[in-house]
Amino acid sequence: MTTNHQILLASRPEGEPTAANFKLVEVPLPSLQDGQVLVRNHFLSLDPYMRGRMNDSKSYAAPQPLNEVMIGGTAGEVVESRNAAFKAGDKVVGMGGWQEYVVVNAEERGALRKVDTTHIPLSAYLGAVGMPGVTAWYGLVKIIDPKPGETVVVSAASGAVGGAVGQLAKARGCRAVGLAGGPEKCAAVVNELGFDACIDYKAHPDLKSLSKALKEACPNGIDGYFENVGGMILDAVMLRSNAFARVALCGMIAGYNGEPIPMTMPQLLLTNRMKLEGFIVSEHMEVWPEALKELGTLVATGKFKYRETVAQGLASAPEAFLGLLKGRNFGKQLVNLI
Ligand code: NDP
Repeated sequence: MTTNHQILLASRPEGEPTAANFKLVEVPLPSLQDGQVLVRNHFLSLDPYMRGRMNDSKSYAAPQPLNEVMIGGTAGEVVESRNAAFKAGDKVVGMGGWQEYVVVNAEERGALRKVDTTHIPLSAYLGAVGMPGVTAWYGLVKIIDPKPGETVVVSAASGAVGGAVGQLAKARGCRAVGLAGGPEKCAAVVNELGFDACIDYKAHPDLKSLSKALKEACPNGIDGYFENVGGMILDAVMLRSNAFARVALCGMIAGYNGEPIPMTMPQLLLTNRMKLEGFIVSEHMEVWPEALKELGTLVATGKFKYRETVAQGLASAPEAFLGLLKGRNFGKQLVNLI
């Protein structure tokens, strides 16, 4: 193995990204220096945050540089090591990017983490037992802080984050209600993931209709809302929120291509005495061990259900990513690189 395939960001999108914003290249693999590890990436994680990085604008993180390997979480196997802490065959996760192989300076703290695949599949370390799982855990436990008997609502409920939010809320004795696009996703959210109800937001294109559906699914009102989407869904939830409801503002995917997502009734924050808090999971590394312990135990014991949508081969990554932004994924979107 002397060559590597990579996908670079070739240009910045205006509005909706297209496959032409990406470029597939073949490059030689460099030889290892002391302290370095060569990893064969088996799975690439595709995540909505990558859309934000494609822009050259002020955000919580620096933009993805043009003509460099697209940023991305990866899970794989060490094939060669010049670092005493790693040996060939170790299963590892890191930020390997959109490429088949990655040379990692494994001495950098947190650059590469060994994982145990005895009871947890390697791919799950990019989903349920990885960043999306911890995201769900942080927003639910640290911001919504639900009490047994309360009602927790989550948007993008069939996704990697949303599916975990509902199951963690159920484990805490709550009523879990999801919102997802289409009857098939909604049925799976209830029947496979164990939510109490799931609303097909596409069947409710106006505020009145969505608010009515929420009223039916949440007869005791809404105490906690895990926001992944923004726009009209947030408005409808705020209309049905109880006094002192908490909103964990995790994502607003409805606006990632620059669409306006106005909050039309901000006065409800006041009249409902609501708390609304945004968060970025990578800024809360202190909770990762506790969150991963709970998530890892739930997955290893079969008590936690998750779906994966797996695209095949590095070249399929751009289309799979564009699909994620349009809801074509069902659960965690991955690319199998082997
Ligand atoms: P998902 O697996 O949930 O995929 C995204 C889903 O969003 C799609 O499947 C689609 O589902 C839904 N969606 C897309 N466009 C729209 C739209 N216009 N209106 C409503 N729904 C839409 O992704 P993740 O679980 O990885 O991420 C979920 C959210 O969490 C994202 O907003 C992401 O940015 C955020 N996030 C935030 C983090 C943080 O630290 N704050 C960390 C990780 C994720 P459907 O078919 O149901 O419409």
